Amino acid sequence: MTRARVLLLNAAIGPLDYRVPHGMTVEHGSIVVVPLGPRKVVGVVWEDDRFEVETVGDNRLRPLLSILDVPPLRAPLRRLIEWTADYYLASPAAVLRMALSSSAALEGERTVTEYRATGHVPSRLTEKRTQALERIGARQGLLRELALVADVSDAIVRGLVKAGALEAVEVDIDTPFPAPDPDFAPPELSDAQDAAASELVEAVRAQDFQTFLLDGVTGSGKTEVYFEAIAHALRMDKQVLILLPEIALTEPFLQRFEKRFGVAPVAWHSGLRQSERRRAWRAIASGQAKVIVGARSALFLPYADPGLIVVDEAHETSFKQEDGVHYHARDVAVMRGLLEKCPVVLASATPAIETRQQVEIGRYREIKLPTRFGGAQLPQIEAIDMTREPPERGRWIAPKLVRAMETVLEKGEQALLFLNRRGYAPLTLCRHCGYRFQCPNCTAWMVEHRLTRRLACHHCGHVIPTPRACPECKEEDALVACGPGVERIADEVAQLFPQARTAVVTSDTLWSPAKAAEFVRSMEAGEIDIIVGTQLVTKGYHFPNLTLVGVIDADLGLEGGDLRASERTFQQIAQVSGRAGRGEKPGHVFIQTRSPGTPVIKALVNGDTEGFYAAETQSRRRAQAPPFGRFAAIVISSETPEDALETARLIGRTAPDVEGMSVYGPAPAPLAILRGRHRHRLLVHAQRALDVQTIIREWLGALKWPKSTRVSVDVDPYSFL
Ligand code: ADP
Ligand code: ZN
Repeated sequence: MTRARVLLLNAAIGPLDYRVPHGMTVEHGSIVVVPLGPRKVVGVVWEDDRFEVETVGDNRLRPLLSILDVPPLRAPLRRLIEWTADYYLASPAAVLRMALSSSAALEGERTVTEYRATGHVPSRLTEKRTQALERIGARQGLLRELALVADVSDAIVRGLVKAGALEAVEVDIDTPFPAPDPDFAPPELSDAQDAAASELVEAVRAQDFQTFLLDGVTGSGKTEVYFEAIAHALRMDKQVLILLPEIALTEPFLQRFEKRFGVAPVAWHSGLRQSERRRAWRAIASGQAKVIVGARSALFLPYADPGLIVVDEAHETSFKQEDGVHYHARDVAVMRGLLEKCPVVLASATPAIETRQQVEIGRYREIKLPTRFGGAQLPQIEAIDMTREPPERGRWIAPKLVRAMETVLEKGEQALLFLNRRGYAPLTLCRHCGYRFQCPNCTAWMVEHRLTRRLACHHCGHVIPTPRACPECKEEDALVACGPGVERIADEVAQLFPQARTAVVTSDTLWSPAKAAEFVRSMEAGEIDIIVGTQLVTKGYHFPNLTLVGVIDADLGLEGGDLRASERTFQQIAQVSGRAGRGEKPGHVFIQTRSPGTPVIKALVNGDTEGFYAAETQSRRRAQAPPFGRFAAIVISSETPEDALETARLIGRTAPDVEGMSVYGPAPAPLAILRGRHRHRLLVHAQRALDVQTIIREWLGALKWPKSTRVSVDVDPYSFL
């Protein structure tokens, strides 16, 4: 190769051609450094025929500067990047950035200098030096780390090195990850589990693309089943990727994996330190890291030899990325399996209608686990009609649920109250003048967080200390909290059961893996009687002594009513119900609702999953909504309201007239202002077969709008705000 086309990490600039200097050998996928104006930027050598590039004569090409010392991106990943950019109307560079998501990993340096004691005692022994040597002891670390441990200045440590009391050791910072052992502690599978596992193992052995829906009720042992497939991939020396919907679930998962395979898998999420990211990225690219568990961003990592992809809780909408590249990790995972030629397992107790439809038309293979493992029964579910058996004024827990909680506490069992609302109250107003606290940057109320004594916007993060006086009329102590959040429910629990030990579990309290681990530990140790939590506690956890679940407000998710509202409500309540009675003791679930007659609630109470899905699928089909038709949202935003409106109108006016496609809007978005930007939306509704991406690309590509205006396209949108 004497010329190389390079896809740059810089999204604003398309691929550029460079000259390959004499003596340098590159291949497609090589990660290189190139000149760009006065700067040096990272890019990847790409095939010539993939992007339109203005041709530049050989004599005008600038040379590649260097090749980075990491494996080239393999062809399947390059195709995945192209596909993702194409399907989600994103720039290939933006997708590439997700693959090269650790700049530290690209640095060549592989060792750092650490220090350790030699045993030699220097002749000049000051007090500080003695203290340092004592505290350092047999420890080895970076100069800075040792200084911290010893509580002395860097200079003291440096002096000890000079005096020969400490010596330098070159350390490989990319220490290999320990290998999971497929035979460490395999469980005895039940017959149904064994049959399911065999099918997955067979697919792993075949190393062919096939998507499986592992559809098992909560507690049926889906994890144990796909662990067998992982074990087999390990025996074949293949890599495995497991995607989880939230970081909070990672910690308990790591522990569970370690019990089965002897060591924890490699974790990948946004909470990693730079050095941890680097180590993981490089081990993934070299093939040394075998099992990687992560949030959706792990999907684009440069696996050397993937043999299995698992998406756990595959129905979760948090797999949809809502900013930057608007991809759906579940769908991209399937595409990655296709390109890598390996099986993909989607595990869920409440599969998405989109996924069920793929089973229906024969694209995905369904494997069912219809019963809980070990004879545990699914919980009994009962609705509480809040119009007929309401709690007293200012309270939120109905008497019937209170009585059930009493019984559970008397028996020494645990209860979980679920309300998908962080904070104390969703709205604060002034009793005196009616003033409501609204976010200055968003069309949203400020949510009171009493534990931290603040009002916070859950959209932009704006916070203010909770004032004593109304900012409008200056009346003191006139602010009232409207509606409940989890903190308020916890208050009520404390009044009802002063002896009970209550834990509030939300992203505010479980914000780190360590916090999550601590929560699991105290639950298992029986140090918590009642959990009050958001959707964060609805999935994944297995607490055998938890026997009662109360859904505080089942109607909450149905308000606003986007196309998936019923489905999401069903999934959420089925999942949280799935936390009850997972051990030997049977579980009981109470659903508080003002409309017990709605199909979702009735289906949950009657355990009529199939009936619910059939009706829901039918109504989607009638409306030609996904998966039968497709949507794309176009969101226009600007700090200037006029610019946003004008661009929205321009886009609306120029909408192409295409058979099988309708364009709705523009209309002000429900979240009309977000982070200070004024927003308008259009919704494109098209027949399944229509190539909407090309239509939208050409439509918007022909238009011009002010620089201050942002237009983003969300293909297969999940948020309609
Ligand atoms: P799911 O993911 O379907 O909700 P899990 O895989 O979490 O179910 O299994 C529920 C519980 O039952 C877990 O504690 C799990 O370890 C246990 N379990 C499932 N299958 C077996 C088995 N074959 N042997 C021992 N324990 C099992
Ligand atoms: Zn805000």
